[in-house]
Formats: sequence, structure tokens, C-alpha cells
Amino acid sequence: MTGGAGATRYAERLDRAAVVAGEAGLGALLATPGPDLLYLTGHAPPPLERLTLLVVAPGRGPVLLVPLLERPALASPAADRIEVLGWADSEDPYTVAAELLPPGPLAVTDQTWASHVLGLQEAAADRTFVAAGRAMPPLRAVKDEGELAALAKAASAADAAFADIVLVTFAGRREADVSADLADTLRRHGHQAVDFTVVGSGPNGTSPHHEAGERVIAKGEAVVMDFGGHLDGYCSDITRTVFVEQQPEEFDRVHDVVRRAQQAAFEAVRPGVPAEDVDRAARDVIDDAGYGEWFIHRTGHGIGLEIHEPPYIVAGNATKLEAGMTFSIEPGIYLPGRFGARIEDIVAVTDDGAVRLNEAPREPLAVR
Ligand code: ZN
Ligand code: ZN
Ligand code: ZN
Repeated sequence: MTGGAGATRYAERLDRAAVVAGEAGLGALLATPGPDLLYLTGHAPPPLERLTLLVVAPGRGPVLLVPLLERPALASPAADRIEVLGWADSEDPYTVAAELLPPGPLAVTDQTWASHVLGLQEAAADRTFVAAGRAMPPLRAVKDEGELAALAKAASAADAAFADIVLVTFAGRREADVSADLADTLRRHGHQAVDFTVVGSGPNGTSPHHEAGERVIAKGEAVVMDFGGHLDGYCSDITRTVFVEQQPEEFDRVHDVVRRAQQAAFEAVRPGVPAEDVDRAARDVIDDAGYGEWFIHRTGHGIGLEIHEPPYIVAGNATKLEAGMTFSIEPGIYLPGRFGARIEDIVAVTDDGAVRLNEAPREPLAVR
């Protein structure tokens, strides 16, 4: 995501972050290298032992403290909005940072290294530090048009990868071989990074995050494939379940229940609906079919710069959905020792419902 509109976008995000922090009763939001810093400034230094710290406080301009040696390379489209300060290797960065902290509780972004949080706590021992994910509403949950376009592009590329993978040979090859094919095709369709390529054949499909391994895939087995990565900074994440030539016993029924559950959850999405109601919609279908015991995870997770981020589609999350939120809907049924079935799409909340960003076929496909 580049372009001349960038500077304005980051200025708006910085302003909004300061307002949200203020409304949450916080003195400041503190961000270290990671998705929040990237979102707020467009700046993506690697997370290191040297402290890089953005201080966003209501009623003040943002301040970015960086290691002095990184200052020349500082690349943020919002640089003219941010006061940049350097600390030298001979200084204690936490003592320098403590001087920049406004009064009030300080929210630290969730991805901040413990070494930095503990360093800040020691240097500002009279201050209260809290986790931003708990202390303030998520800043990145509602996506703007550019972000929605990026997520749609990543999803389409994942769909294209699925269209390719069903053409390869499964029977007689290891899960790891199909997994490598998946990674290749994700890259071929534009992904700059491949983050995961789950291939769970037969009983391995009952472990939702199964690491593809040495197991040789056989005819008559179901295979769960869950894969994704990064394309232009935004994430893809899709799951489809196929079978090798013949369906195992009960697979047709189980897959159909999962598909109906996924559809029911999709139809439950609209602005104002609590996130947990979408989970309930999927779970009700699976419970009614008698498989409730084997749906062993939440229905979905938000997605954006991170693969898992708010809103979480889970019982107990009363967060009301808003247009522009993006998340996965991925119910599954896992029959111990036999097979798993899961269908996952990324969806975006619209003004009156939702759209799917993934459109790969959802019927059970045969592979060879
Ligand atoms: Zn997962
Ligand atoms: Zn997934
Ligand atoms: Zn997912």
C-alpha cells in the first residue's frame, strides 16, 4: 500500500488513535515495531533489542523515539506529522523514554517485547502500564477501502492457489509434498510470504493446526487444507476439505453439516450483531446435527495486517459488528481417529450484511 494518499491516511489514523486512547482514559498508547506501528505510521522496522517507541497521547503530537543509528533510514509517510527523537547506544533508552510519557495509565501494544515493557516499568516505576488490547477498543478492526481491496486481492490469490492444488496428485504422496506444492502456488499467485500450509490427511485432519508431515496420503481419505500468507502486507487464510477419489464413510454428511453451518454464520453477519451471535449461528447447525462435541474451536478471527486479530467470533464476545470489519468464518467437525472437515472463508461486513472475499468452491471436491 503506497501512494500520495498515504500521508493523509496515517495522519488520520494517528489522530484517531489519540482520541480513542483519550476516551479510554489512557495517558498514551505506546507502540513498538509491529502491526500497530505499521498501521499508524507506515514504518516497519524489525523488532529488535534496541527500543523503538511511538508515543501517541491525546492533546499532543505523536513522538517517535528511535535508535540514533536508525534515524537516517527512517521511512514513514507520516514523518512530517511525527516528532522523531534519537537515543544513543551509550544511553539507557528506557530512561529517555520515561521523560516522554504523559500522565495517566499507559497502554502498550500487545506485540511489544517483554524486555521493553519491563525496561519501561523499571524506568517509570510510579506509572501504570496496561495491555492496549484490553485497555482500548481495537484500532485496526474496521478496514478502509484500500485495506478491503488488499484483503480481497489476497483472498482471490488464495482461491487461485486452491484451484491449482486440486489438480495435483495426492494419493501416494506425503502431506509435506502437497504442502510444498501449496506454498509454491501461493507464491505463484502473488503472495510475498507463505505463513502456513496445513495439510491434514485422514486422522491428521482432526488436528486443526496440524503440521504437514511424513504421512502418505491414501485413496479414500479426506484431506483438510488450511493455508495463507501475506500479499502486499495483508493476510490470506482459507480452508477447504477434499477427498481422494472416494469419500470416507460419513464424510458426505459431515461436510454438508459444516457447509450449512458456515452458510448460517455468513447469513448472521450484519452491522450491530454481536460477534458471539455469528459463532452461535454456526454452532447451532452443528449441535442440531449431533456433532457439537466435535466442533472444538471458535468460529473465526479478525484478519488484516495480522492473521489473527480482533474481532474474535467466539462465545462471550459481545462486540457489535461494524461495516468494514473483516474476519474468518471457519466451522469444522473433527471425528477422532477418522477425519476432519472445515470450510473457511474471509468475509467483510457491509452496510446491510456481508460479502465473502473467498469464492473457491465449497462443495466437497474429489482429487486424485
Ligand atoms: Zn487457526
Ligand atoms: Zn485458516
Ligand atoms: Zn483462520
